[in-house]
Amino acid sequence: MPALRGSLELRDRRILVVGLARTGIAAARFLLEQGARVAATDCAASVGSDPAVKALGENGCSLRLGEHRLEDFLEAELIVISPGVPLTLAPLSEAVKAGRTVIGEMELASRHLPCPLIGVTGSNGKTTTVSLIHAMLESASIPHWVGGNIGRPLIDFLLEGRERSEKPRFVVAEVSSFQLETVCSLRPWIAVWTNLSEDHLDRYPDLEAYAEAKFRIFQNQTADDYAIVPARDRWLDFRRNRMAARIVRFGCPGDGRPEACVDGAKIVWRGADRTAEELYETERVRLPGRHNLENMMVAAAVARLCGVPPPIVQRAMDTFPGLEHRLELVEEIRGVRFYNDSKGTTVDSVVRALESFSRPVLLLAGGKDKGGAYAPLLEPLRTRARRLFLFGEAAGRMERELSGAVPIERVRDLDEAIRRSWEEARPGDVVLLSPACSSFDMFRDYEHRGETFKQGVRDLVGRVRGSEEAGGEP
Ligand code: ADP
Repeated sequence: MPALRGSLELRDRRILVVGLARTGIAAARFLLEQGARVAATDCAASVGSDPAVKALGENGCSLRLGEHRLEDFLEAELIVISPGVPLTLAPLSEAVKAGRTVIGEMELASRHLPCPLIGVTGSNGKTTTVSLIHAMLESASIPHWVGGNIGRPLIDFLLEGRERSEKPRFVVAEVSSFQLETVCSLRPWIAVWTNLSEDHLDRYPDLEAYAEAKFRIFQNQTADDYAIVPARDRWLDFRRNRMAARIVRFGCPGDGRPEACVDGAKIVWRGADRTAEELYETERVRLPGRHNLENMMVAAAVARLCGVPPPIVQRAMDTFPGLEHRLELVEEIRGVRFYNDSKGTTVDSVVRALESFSRPVLLLAGGKDKGGAYAPLLEPLRTRARRLFLFGEAAGRMERELSGAVPIERVRDLDEAIRRSWEEARPGDVVLLSPACSSFDMFRDYEHRGETFKQGVRDLVGRVRGSEEAGGEP
């Protein structure tokens, strides 16, 4: 395990925190505790009524609320931004031009972590993989923190850490590409790259720029560290010469005996030096889809590197219940199964969702367009789906790009999609919400969309059962 790198010297440094939601408040508190001269700014004046923001002011943080002023940015030696703050914010780019250093909360926190970091990035599967790693470490009673893009910002743990008696042995962080844009020295002991597929093209000029942002997770690693990567990945292939870490590949047996692979009904772990041969059964795994076996094998590789004994890895695989909004079985009625995959916001995750079922699928998709191509859905739709119901802003473009693969119907909203899919469904079918889009055109977030879907399905099931009991027509 690598020696920990030095903390950032913060005492008496002039530091500006931009954005005063939960993460920014925690960062400002941490910086004050470290003896920095802290200023904080948020363009919303309303944050001033938050008692935590008031407390910052009372503890010596100077506040600029309701506006950003360039002078605040130029006065700072270091600027710490919250995850939601765009790097394109005018005073920020001015400050960068003037030579100021801008970092994100994750960079700040990572410099002060008390133990090695396990960072998980990728277009899909981050949360599932992090949750699996957590389950495995937890079952092995290995103290650890879990945070980052999932759950709590890492800086929160630093604030609390001193009060805890039990020191963590690892910090497991889900790391988004946006967070990676604002790191410079982040160095995970284990960095995981689950996969890369088209995503966030509304934020990056092209896929290459997106891949480069994600690749930053490896940039400070050394030969003491591990990089867990797909055996086949065209985005990594030509970047391998820029990776200093020991590479642990995952894939299938045909990929040149990778260190971790799914072989039939088993997961094989050969160890990072390929001297072992551990076999894990997948028959009792409750999560559908080949992609979830990939998540399991990646989590198993991490857990084994952290010293979790094999029987505990196996038990965690057998008992992991899956996560809400990711291929979540909602109800089954008259042989029709309804699945909520509201977190399926990328085309690749929808391809994986369709491939997870051997039964015919009625797919409910659409929402806010993220700018990528829908064409990769054509083939799985042709082979796996019976009908496609489209809603939301992206429906027009999706209909144009997907026409011919499967009968398409435009619907007003999710409720109509549920009603129409039920009318069309036959026993043995799957009704799957897996939108391939983000949710912000009609919902607060993917969770809101998933909850709306689940409620709609439960209402439908209630009506059907009610009419059955009353002896009426369905
Ligand atoms: P993330 O945190 O990267 O968004 P999640 O674990 O929350 O990933 O899953 C998001 C979506 O991607 C869900 O629809 C899920 O079924 C799908 N998914 C999960 N793991 C993978 C994977 N390894 N490859 C492709 N899609 C995946």
